[in-house]
Amino acid sequence: MRVLQHRGQESAGIAVYNNGIKALKGMGLAHQALRADDLHNLKGETGIGHVRYSTVGSSSPENAQPVVMSTNYGDIALAHNGEIVNGDQLRDGLKKKGWAFATTSDSEIIIRMLANDISNTGDPVRSVKNVMASLIGSYSITLMVDSRVFALRDPLGIRPLCVGRTKGGYAAASESVVFDTLGGEFMRDVEPGELVELLPGEIRSTKTGLARGKAHCMFEWVYIARADSCLDGHLVYDVRRRIGQCLAREQPVDADVIVPVPDSGRSHSMGYAETSGIPYSEGLMKNRYVERTFIMPEQNDRTTSVMLKLNPLKSVIKDKRIVLVDDSIVRGTTMRQIVQLVRNAGAKEVHVRIGSPPIRMPCYFGIDMKTRDQFAATGRTVEDIARMLTADSLGYISIDGLVDAIGHSASDLCLGCLTGEYPLPVEGEKVRFQKKLDSFA
Ligand code: AMP
Repeated sequence: MRVLQHRGQESAGIAVYNNGIKALKGMGLAHQALRADDLHNLKGETGIGHVRYSTVGSSSPENAQPVVMSTNYGDIALAHNGEIVNGDQLRDGLKKKGWAFATTSDSEIIIRMLANDISNTGDPVRSVKNVMASLIGSYSITLMVDSRVFALRDPLGIRPLCVGRTKGGYAAASESVVFDTLGGEFMRDVEPGELVELLPGEIRSTKTGLARGKAHCMFEWVYIARADSCLDGHLVYDVRRRIGQCLAREQPVDADVIVPVPDSGRSHSMGYAETSGIPYSEGLMKNRYVERTFIMPEQNDRTTSVMLKLNPLKSVIKDKRIVLVDDSIVRGTTMRQIVQLVRNAGAKEVHVRIGSPPIRMPCYFGIDMKTRDQFAATGRTVEDIARMLTADSLGYISIDGLVDAIGHSASDLCLGCLTGEYPLPVEGEKVRFQKKLDSFA
C-alpha cells in the first residue's frame, strides 16, 4: 500500500479472509493508519487494501475503506477508486425502498447493492454484472466475496487498474509500479468493462458486455500516477517527457535555466530542457517529509505547506532568467507562491510553463476538482493568469499536444476538465461526441 501512497493520504485500510473477512483501517498515511503489531496479527490467504483520496463523502474514519459487510451468502469487502455520478439517485431510490446507509461515501452504495444482489443470485460474477449495469461513473474496484478476490474496471476504463504476478500468486493494483516494487511481474491492464477473478493458478476474465469505448483520465499521466508506472500501455515518465518536449516547441522562451517544480514537474522539465537546449538545474529543494499538498482539504493548510516544502537554491536562481516547469495549475495557489520564492531568491525573470492545458471544468470522475470558481483559469485569459501568478510569461501545452504526448487518441481519453465535454452524462454538463444542433441542419 505504501507503493501507492501517492494516490491517497487520508486513510488506509486492509481486509483479509481468515474464517470470515477481517479489516483494519485508520486515518492518515498507511504506516500511521495501520500499526505494525495489528498488521502482524492480521493473517489471511487473500486480501485487498486501499488508500483514500476523497472525492465524494468526507474525510472521516467511517468512510475509510475497504468497506466490509456480512450477508447471508458470506462476507464482502470492497475497495473503490473513482466516483459514481448517479450515486445520489441510487441512494435516494434505495432509501425509498427502505434501505439504510451508514456513510456518505458512494462506495457504500456499490457494496450494499452487491451484497443484496449476491444474497439473491448466490453468484458474485452475475451480481457484479447486474450492479455494474446501474452504475454511472468511474470505478476501479477490488472486491472480496469471502476468500474470492475480484477486480473490475468501469466500462470506459476511466481510472487505471492492472493485474500481475506476485510471489504468492496474482494481484490487481491501480498502477504497475506495485509489481516492480513487490518483486512481481506486471501482466496487463484490466480492460474497460472487464471483471477478473484472481485464482491461485489463473486469472479468470469475464467481459461484462458493458464496455463502451474508452475514456482514460488524462490527469493520471499528467500528475496522479507515479512516473515509473505504465498505464494503459504508456509509461508515465515517457508521456511526461514528451509533454515537456512538446511544450518547448509550442511555448518557447529565451531563458538561462529550466527549474523543475519538484516532484510533479520533474519529468516534464527534462523534456522541455532536451528540446529547448536550455540547461536543466535543480533550483528548488524539497523537504521530502511534507506530503502532497493537494490532499489537504483546507486551503490554509496548503498555503503554509508550500513554504515548508520548497526552498530555493540562490546560486542557481540569482540574476538568471528562470523557466519554472510544472505539471498543471488547478487553483494556482502553489505556483503563485513558487514564483514569489524564486523572485525573492533573486531571479531576473520568471517564466512558467505548464504540462496540461488550462483546467477550467470540474471533474466528476475521481479527481477532487469540483467547483468552477476554484480554478485559476476560470474566466481568465492566459495573460490574466500570468499576472495573478506574478510571472513574466505563462504558457500551457495545447490539447492536441497533450493528446499526442499521451499516445492515445482523443476519443479514448477523458478530457472533461479541459473541454467541458464528458464521457458520461452528468446533470447540467455536455456529453462528448454530442453533435451540435446546427450540424443536423
Ligand atoms: P494548485 O495550487 O491548486 O494549482 O495545485 C498545485 C498542484 O497540486 C498541481 O500539481 C496540481 O496538479 C495538484 N492538484 C491541485 N489540486 C488537486 C486535486 N484536487 N487533486 C489532485 N491534484 C491536485
